[in-house]
Amino acid sequence: MASQITFIGAGNMARAIFGGLIESGYPADAITATARHQQTLDTLAARYGINVTTDNAGAVADADVVILAVKPQLMRNVCQSLGEALAIGRPLIISVAAGITVDTLADWLDDPTLPIVRCMPNTPSLVGTGASGLFAGQQVSAEQRELAESLMRAVGIVEWVEEETLLSAVTAIAGSAPAYFFYMIEALEKAGVARGLSPDSSRRLAIQTALGAARMADQSEYDPETLKQQVMSPKGTTERAIHCFEQAGLERIVDDATRACFDRAEELA
Ligand code: NAD
Repeated sequence: MASQITFIGAGNMARAIFGGLIESGYPADAITATARHQQTLDTLAARYGINVTTDNAGAVADADVVILAVKPQLMRNVCQSLGEALAIGRPLIISVAAGITVDTLADWLDDPTLPIVRCMPNTPSLVGTGASGLFAGQQVSAEQRELAESLMRAVGIVEWVEEETLLSAVTAIAGSAPAYFFYMIEALEKAGVARGLSPDSSRRLAIQTALGAARMADQSEYDPETLKQQVMSPKGTTERAIHCFEQAGLERIVDDATRACFDRAEELA
């Protein structure tokens, strides 16, 4: 029988994960989501067929897995209101909140013996191509690790990290990174329009090229650098463009941006 999963919070990230789980065949009636507003929940129930409630404590009572998916700044209050209810069923707790450590969560839940996994997912989970980093607290059993991994694997790839601070690195290159690629697509689309393409056509070409490049990088026997070289014939068009990126210091910009993201994740911790 499928594990009963309760999502505390039903925003972008929770929807990406339960939407992806349902898409992969997970039974919708084994999923419960909570949020502040009943109207949001009614829409989700109609769309996904999941159970919904505004009663957080009631929703965790029979859960095998509780996924904490509220904004980091709300997490303390949410945890403090759940402590007693979690002590009964002792479900596996998975937090997707950026920056909040296992020790802090255990402290807010007022129980250092609860099994807690921290997960840094990203929104492409919604379309089955998520990339998540997982870190297990000391109370998590081997079976619970497998359970957390199997849930997140239903919506993408999973990388375990054995040091908690590495989740901030996962945030920098995966959790926040879909936005970097959307930014690149946006910039390419604008550049295509500037060169005379229609906005629709330019967007379709940019998106398909991003998709194609990612798929090739995933499936090819060659590494990304070699694939890049294969498009760059000497003195050709691509070489000119890549030269321009190099002159503008693209690698340094990416390094700076990911460092800023990493630092912010550590600040939140
Ligand atoms: P969001 O604002 O879209 O969703 C938050 C949800 O929490 C809303 O449904 C809201 O109604 C609900 N909520 C607020 N207070 C509540 C309460 N007391 N009880 C129950 N539900 C309550 O936020 P999001 O973008 O989904 O982010 C959620 C978490 O996911 C954050 O901690 C964030 O760090 C993490 N995360 C997000 C992303 C992303 O790409 N959005 C990526 C990785 C991790």
